[in-house]
Amino acid sequence: MSDCLFCKIIHGDIPSKKVYENENVYAFKDIYPQASEHYLFISKNHTKDVNELVTSGNELNHIFAAIKDFTENETELAKNGFRVVTNMGKHGCQTVFHTHFHVLGGEQLSSFGK
Ligand code: AMP
Ligand code: ZN
Repeated sequence: MSDCLFCKIIHGDIPSKKVYENENVYAFKDIYPQASEHYLFISKNHTKDVNELVTSGNELNHIFAAIKDFTENETELAKNGFRVVTNMGKHGCQTVFHTHFHVLGGEQLSSFGK
């Protein structure tokens, strides 16, 4: 989508710190990290949120396969543990409407709260 921030990042029109890429998935460092490691995994195919993404072919599998590959083979995250979060809509505090999965780790995280 031409006016989508993350589509612009995928196309290189807006700079990002890329950490992983394959045919279907792009991942980069979150600009305001909420943990010592904080990455965003996105599908190259634009959808607005996770509920739209799950109806769009195999995108969810592609995302989680990329997270598995990255966390196991390029970081210590799989060994030490990490968290995957996707925010949806107003109550979920979604701010960018290109589906994305936050991968957080690199330190001990706290339990969920509000
Ligand atoms: P959410 O609130 O779940 O929609 O998450 C959006 C995330 O995108 C936030 O964690 C932001 O810090 C992050 N973000 C926004 N703009 C950029 C950018 N240009 N590069 C990297 N991360 C960004
Ligand atoms: Zn997009």
